[in-house]
Amino acid sequence: MSDQQILVSACLVGVRCRYDCQEQARPQIIDLLNQGIAVAVCPEQMGGLTTPRAPAERQADLVITIQGEDVTSNYLQGAREALDLVKRLNIKKAILKSKSPMCGKDLIYDGSFTGQLTGGQGVLTELLLANAIEVECCD
Ligand code: SF4
Repeated sequence: MSDQQILVSACLVGVRCRYDCQEQARPQIIDLLNQGIAVAVCPEQMGGLTTPRAPAERQADLVITIQGEDVTSNYLQGAREALDLVKRLNIKKAILKSKSPMCGKDLIYDGSFTGQLTGGQGVLTELLLANAIEVECCD
């Protein structure tokens, strides 16, 4: 096992875990997986959310679906599970999917479900950064 493991968003290696099951694989992240470097997780699924599921966006400290359901507790649980794995594997870096309310970095959807972006972090990204884990964004 590599001693330089990197946490990656599972959708970036081709797992159809996005809310709409859409393909999101990126060749450079699949390369990391094939090298034994990538540890792929979907923290939304780890928080108990099903796939497919309703799209959700951050609204301040909450995460709300397009139907108005508060799924904040699922997001927090999934982010904590992913952080626990990061600590157990002594991972120091993550490469996460851009714009996601869980995995996004620096820019996320603004909570209006209109495709507009705003400054902010996904729930997992925020937790990883608070625990001194480097986070890189992948479009
Ligand atoms: Fe799962 Fe993150 Fe990909 Fe969303 S962006 S589907 S939470 S791995």
